[in-house]
Amino acid sequence: MNSPTHTLLALAVLSKRGEKKRNWTVLLGSIIPDAAIYLWAPYQYFLNGVSGEQMWRELYFAPPMQNLIAYFNSIPVYGALALLGYFMRAKGWGKLLLFFALAALIHMATDLPVHNHDAYRHFWPFSDWRFISPLSYYETQHHAGWVSTIEALIALISIIVLWRRFPKLWVKLTLAILVVFYLSLPIITRLAGVSIDS
Ligand SMILES: [Zn+2]
Repeated sequence: MNSPTHTLLALAVLSKRGEKKRNWTVLLGSIIPDAAIYLWAPYQYFLNGVSGEQMWRELYFAPPMQNLIAYFNSIPVYGALALLGYFMRAKGWGKLLLFFALAALIHMATDLPVHNHDAYRHFWPFSDWRFISPLSYYETQHHAGWVSTIEALIALISIIVLWRRFPKLWVKLTLAILVVFYLSLPIITRLAGVSIDS
């Protein structure tokens, strides 16, 4: 799904008013699986001068990048971290580790059903199997129109939960901007959604 959706859902499920450390850890855990892509893309574009076309059509699907993505999107890795955190939850770091891993697992749960030709190896290192979903969150020939409507609903419900939970002005401003984004997402996806031959 689109990155902010993972974060909104993880925060709606796992954050708590007044628990700053826990909330920032949840935020971090929800973005870490996509972090590899966000660091890699500008590096290729600005430092290596690779064109957008070559980057997303070739390099992205080549082994170095696919391996990096597999490490950061591994259900067994985050599962192990969650277990470790659970058993050490009496200690401060254990509890934070648990929330970090749970946020990342929520990210996995919302990516797995909506990736088609770009499916991840979510079960690395035990298996390189990819679940090729018939659904995609951005490819129109794989029902992105409907998927984006459901994604927008999940995001908007999460926004309502967070709006009521956090009184700070900057939180509400951020959420307001995201409301505009999610109200337009199904329309943008239907109009401009990509159609990739797989
Ligand atoms: Zn992701």
